[in-house]
Amino acid sequence: MTDFLIATNNTHKVEEFKRILLPLGVNVLSAKEAGIELGDVVEDGKTFAENAKIKALSAFRKAGIPSIADDSGLCVDALMGAPGIYSARYGGEDIPQSERNALLLSEMLKSGKDTRTARFVSSICCVFSEEDIIALEGICEGTIAQAPCGDGGFGYDPLFIYEDGRCFGAIDGDEKDKVSHRGRALRALRDELIKRKDVL
Ligand code: IMP
Repeated sequence: MTDFLIATNNTHKVEEFKRILLPLGVNVLSAKEAGIELGDVVEDGKTFAENAKIKALSAFRKAGIPSIADDSGLCVDALMGAPGIYSARYGGEDIPQSERNALLLSEMLKSGKDTRTARFVSSICCVFSEEDIIALEGICEGTIAQAPCGDGGFGYDPLFIYEDGRCFGAIDGDEKDKVSHRGRALRALRDELIKRKDVL
């Protein structure tokens, strides 16, 4: 079975990648496990897909093994799709996530719009070589809560209410994976990998 590098320093994402991909038979290594430093990568793409490719290619060039990256974020309709590709640094690079979440709620209030619809997007890029690259996307539709709910998950999870009314901040990781943007994108990746019998 081929080893894949997960090209992220976000420990929550590593956890989700492993939780979703290992049971699917995809062997995944964090950067630490692969013994490499991902370093700072300039994410200057204009879309989730462009940024995922930048991260996956950079990791592949460092590690020399197939590398998978995700670029993801929350797109809020009342904020014209913000924070979108800027989700990780919305409101500033170094503020705590609780402040980012509070900012998002106050910006929604300021917008004067009633609509609370939003979606999480995960663009996944898997690089086998410079010429052999797979790109996939997963989307999870929901609404933004009036106030944070639950103390689980990470990032904007406490603000996100899935279509069935459950808040991502208040459900188990396994439950989130079944419906989440990253879960959907990674299962689609797994379907592509199955087509390559040499990989799985
Ligand atoms: P990235 O590492 O540049 O892809 O940043 C993605 C950012 O989007 C994260 O730092 C989170 O703030 C947010 N995000 C992405 N996926 C999730 C999720 O599943 N739950 C909550 N927030 C997420």
